[in-house]
Amino acid sequence: MFRKFDGAAYRWDGVEPHVYKEDSSVFRSVTKQVLFEREGDLPVQFRYFQVEPGGWSSLERHGHMHMVVIFRGRGHALIGGEVREVAEGDMMTIPSWAWHQFRADRGEPLGFFCLVNADRDAPSYPTEADLEEMRRAPAVAAFLDGKA
Ligand code: MN
Repeated sequence: MFRKFDGAAYRWDGVEPHVYKEDSSVFRSVTKQVLFEREGDLPVQFRYFQVEPGGWSSLERHGHMHMVVIFRGRGHALIGGEVREVAEGDMMTIPSWAWHQFRADRGEPLGFFCLVNADRDAPSYPTEADLEEMRRAPAVAAFLDGKA
């Protein structure tokens, strides 16, 4: 398999971007391109997500892990209780059951590759009680309010 990258559009040959519904409280301005799906002895899915300026990925957690590499732009990531500034080239893992979210809160798109197991559980989303708990950490509250 070979996919040519179009650096002007941030798209790969033969991949149809999936555009998430706009302005949900769960996510905003996010597209997903599935670049690789379970082939040969690699039981993984490899995706590229792009969050447009002012947008965010869903705040979620699940049993499966992510490995993420930032490919474009800057923003912030919430991983467990930690808020981190992220920029092109940064690499991180998201442990099992850690709350996580990516925000393009620096006025530019935030694009990242994300590797997951092809066989994985579905995400769960925070309850009001979970959000209250998370917000006890001032840095997390600021992040969730888009003021990181
Ligand atoms: Mn996730």
